[in-house]
Amino acid sequence: MGTWEWHLLDQEMLWSLPQEKLFGLTPGSFDGRPETFFQLVHEGDRDFLDAAIATAAQPQQQFAAEFRVILPDQSIRWLNQRGQVLRDSQGQVIRMVGVTFDITAQHTVQALLMKQMGRDRLIAKLSQDINRTEKVDQALPEVFGVVREHLGLDRLILIDLRENAGKVIAEAQIPAIESILDWKMRHPWSVKAAYLDKFKLGHPVSISNVHQQPLSESELGFLTFFDVSADLSLPLLEGDQLWALLSAQSRQPRDWLPEEIRLLETVGMLVSTAIQRDRLHDYLTRANRELKRFAYLDGLTQVANRRRFEHFLNQEWRRLMREQSSMAVIMVDIDHFKAYNDLYGHQAGDDCLRRVAGILRSAIQRPADIVARYGGEEFVLVLPNTGIKGAETIAERIRVLLRQSQIPHKGSPVGKLLTVSLGIAAMYPHPLKAPDDLVKIADQALYQAKKNGRDRIVVFPFQKPSPIPPGSVPS
Ligand code: GH3
Ligand code: MG
Ligand code: MG
Repeated sequence: MGTWEWHLLDQEMLWSLPQEKLFGLTPGSFDGRPETFFQLVHEGDRDFLDAAIATAAQPQQQFAAEFRVILPDQSIRWLNQRGQVLRDSQGQVIRMVGVTFDITAQHTVQALLMKQMGRDRLIAKLSQDINRTEKVDQALPEVFGVVREHLGLDRLILIDLRENAGKVIAEAQIPAIESILDWKMRHPWSVKAAYLDKFKLGHPVSISNVHQQPLSESELGFLTFFDVSADLSLPLLEGDQLWALLSAQSRQPRDWLPEEIRLLETVGMLVSTAIQRDRLHDYLTRANRELKRFAYLDGLTQVANRRRFEHFLNQEWRRLMREQSSMAVIMVDIDHFKAYNDLYGHQAGDDCLRRVAGILRSAIQRPADIVARYGGEEFVLVLPNTGIKGAETIAERIRVLLRQSQIPHKGSPVGKLLTVSLGIAAMYPHPLKAPDDLVKIADQALYQAKKNGRDRIVVFPFQKPSPIPPGSVPS
């Protein structure tokens, strides 16, 4: 603690030895002049000090001020000075006496706190920006821009080290320098094993001046082209896998401060977490789509399953009712398939089912048509916006394609090749009917085709009696 007296009438100051030391003077060297005192005070604080003294001269006032002094080694010391004002009988200020304390440490802590608060606010904002967008890629340019500005960087980039090793996938840079986005970053320290080992352990690599690094001419050429003189690279890890580098760059050589590294580490963590979140989201979306596909597909034949058939039938029924359009259904059943299994084995039976399913699939032509496995060796085709005629054409095509594939069936009483029976029905969806009614009559037509000798098409309403059902080819 320093003590001081200021005699205002003859403008002389008396300082104790500690007071002189606080101002950075050697003991006994203060000349007692107020001008010398003012000279020792930081230029930026002199007006403020003047005002504090003027205030103290007012009745009922005390003197109190905080100001900086520049020490001989050019460092700054914060001082707190407070004083008592002494007056004569007329109320005139004649003297001030007071004390001085060093409050530098307090100020440093306060400045750090302010900085820390600024940093926390920044991180909170970045984290909000990142989480607001559906995909972090959309937020990166803005986030990088804010961080770049906050740290006074010339460029901040994200380097992908996965499939496209070294590709710059995000960037914020000052307009004066070349963009490096989409380039493959030939960072010497993102390729060399010694640096990679550091990265893999999660440590940053900070280069204050690339020109003082043992670099090849081409490496240096690349960095010079993109105006990189200083570089701070931080690894982004997924588990213990190094997948990217966050790289801060400067045109001028620059020492990287621990707090800058810490801030970038936090940014890297935010970005990394968000990107992993996005990747997981993409993966789940894909997996869900696959699951849905499986849930709707018949495992053996890869055509729609019964569930999908019911769903589709009902949905199309309602749509076609609104559209006032016709819907056709073809039921297909393999003839004497039990005998096929018995003769060729169950495995061959399965193969046969797959082939028939393939034939049915290639027989339909509109994207809206579907083939479904109805059960066992029975299939069903749903043909929206189709009447009897259209369905007959498809049914004929099925028979032709099946004949062309010549699947042997030596156990069939119908012939030497595999055959099917088909039942066709079509109707305009009606509120008093149900989609099941349509399926039922197609099933009746199929039953009739079986009864009439198999290997044929029967259309509902079927002609009765009909020696040669419409569309059928006598065997
Ligand atoms: P029909 O001409 O009257 O239709 O005679 P069918 O033998 O084809 O009819 P049935 O209903 O008597 O027999 C159907 C056979 O289809 C019995 C069953 O073993 C076989 N089957 C059903 N599902 C499968 C399957 O997933 N794989 C195999 N290999 N065979 C199946
Ligand atoms: Mg059958
Ligand atoms: Mg059957």
